[in-house]
Amino acid sequence: MGIALSNAERLAPLEGRRPTVTTVCSHSSLQIFHGARTEGLPTIGIAIGKPPRFYDAFPRARPDRFLTVERHRNVPALAESLRAAGAVLIPHGSFVEYLGAEEFARIDVPVFGNRAVLGWESDRRKERTWLESAGVEMPKRYEEAAEVDGPVIVKYYGAKGGKGFFLAKNREALADFRPTGPYVIQEYVLGTRYYVHFFYSPLSDRGYRVGHGSLELLGMDRRDEANIDELYKLGAQEELLKAGIRPTFVVTGNVPVVLRESLLEKTFEVGARIVERSIELFGGMVGPFCVEGIMTEDLTFKVFEISTRIVAGTNLYVSGSPYSDMIEPGLSTGRRIAQELVRAQAQGRLAEVLS
Ligand code: ATP
Repeated sequence: MGIALSNAERLAPLEGRRPTVTTVCSHSSLQIFHGARTEGLPTIGIAIGKPPRFYDAFPRARPDRFLTVERHRNVPALAESLRAAGAVLIPHGSFVEYLGAEEFARIDVPVFGNRAVLGWESDRRKERTWLESAGVEMPKRYEEAAEVDGPVIVKYYGAKGGKGFFLAKNREALADFRPTGPYVIQEYVLGTRYYVHFFYSPLSDRGYRVGHGSLELLGMDRRDEANIDELYKLGAQEELLKAGIRPTFVVTGNVPVVLRESLLEKTFEVGARIVERSIELFGGMVGPFCVEGIMTEDLTFKVFEISTRIVAGTNLYVSGSPYSDMIEPGLSTGRRIAQELVRAQAQGRLAEVLS
């Protein structure tokens, strides 16, 4: 089943009215609603089951109204009423993950950003084709166990938050791996992790120019991942295994980080290449995306993943980050999304930032 409406038909209800910033109530939704409110846009929160009670605790981030559905998969059924309300859907990690990238791509409501990106990002092979053909360094990928010549991380396809990943310090240790589904074997990169929050604006004609627009750096974080981040307390992975505990990477929170200033140049170059290649491959990404990588001791940035939407690490910076403060005080990613919508509408260019 394809999308029933054309782009123009979907966007028609937005003619001459302020877009209603709409998203599912979780992940980074408080920040998204707070940003929209700051820029004077109306908001709708889609609640699964019932509106989260803790929203009452944050009056400046509570959406103007809620629409409630039983489950994520019922969201597409709201399409008609959402279009009538002038809704623009803001994709975030849990919205796309729980509905499914394919279902999300088919929703008959305007979506902020290019929905074609979902097909490239949700498939690990296509993602690698995109990033490698952009000239971005990635961890080496082994086609089979016999090729392994160092520490590896084995990842399942579509694993959510690194669940079930297996670490092996060498080829021999990999023999203990018992697959439970399709997987890839990747070089385990030793270094420091950075999750870099970029924003690509096709509307902007100033700043760090990329494609037809410009690339902004809004923040950076590192994820707290249970239970692997506590591994050092037990000494080594073997110790964990002896204790009958498999290392996992389930994200439990985020911590703020900044990069050595001299590393910003290459980090921007990585972001720029990813955007330029996206324009060639599928008409370009729009809005927030996160480059997730590891800086090695020889200062190579190896990218293991890209998230092409707002990531939860941006929640650290509701009132601005050490980077976004140098663009505009108090600029969060949620607020930047709202600004892009306001600007696109004022310039009659909504079709360039919505799909
Ligand atoms: P999510 O969907 O939450 O981003 P995921 O299931 O797609 O997670 P990844 O983001 O690829 O999984 O990896 C999860 C974690 O595993 C990373 O945050 C990082 O800590 C670690 N990791 C991933 N790839 C590597 C690698 N090549 N070398 C070292 N550590 C890695």
